[in-house]
Amino acid sequence: MLTIALSKGRIFDDALPLLAEANIVPIENQNKSRKLIIPTTQDDVRLLIVRATDVPTYVEHGAADLGIAGKDVLMEYGSLNLYEILDLRIAMCKLMTAGRIGHTKPKGRLRVATKFVKVAKRYYVEHGSQVDIMKLYGSMELAPLLGLADKIIDVVDTGNTLLANGLEPQDLVANISSYLIANKASMKMQYARIQALISTLRKAL
Ligand code: AMP
Repeated sequence: MLTIALSKGRIFDDALPLLAEANIVPIENQNKSRKLIIPTTQDDVRLLIVRATDVPTYVEHGAADLGIAGKDVLMEYGSLNLYEILDLRIAMCKLMTAGRIGHTKPKGRLRVATKFVKVAKRYYVEHGSQVDIMKLYGSMELAPLLGLADKIIDVVDTGNTLLANGLEPQDLVANISSYLIANKASMKMQYARIQALISTLRKAL
């Protein structure tokens, strides 16, 4: 059995046509089904529906052989114990700093709210800035509005979410797309099979 972990939503929707190129088609409509293990048209391939941030954990520990995860999630997870094997160029967006429109830098230490704490620390160290970073799990846009933080670091696509909350994108932290990742042992044990899938996906791209 080849088990592929991925998250619902944009990554799942963008991955479906690619997986279909490799004749991997979910048997159930994921938008209607509540099942977390979805069989596919290939008897020996199944999809696991997990939270985006959990995909690397499932793959690193071998609960899934393969996974599809955003570079933002992979950067934050920061593990050397899995392979990033192919940039699928799906679910593309940017990881950016953002702040209130027209607001300048505060006099004291910058306070930054984000769910990407490790990425943020690295980014500001590289820029030689001393900042206070606080972890939030969602609705990041509220933090600058309510004075909890001066800036946020978050994923931005069209920028509409920021704009709707009086924020503007500022500096680019990283360009993001989703990658096919693999468990190290699976890569050895199922080498031919995974290589065949990689080459089909590469052609489809
Ligand atoms: P937008 O308003 O188009 O800039 O979209 C921003 C919101 O959509 C963010 O708050 C993100 O949570 C989410 N988002 C957009 N693109 C992605 C992506 N590729 N991966 C994960 N979340 C995304």
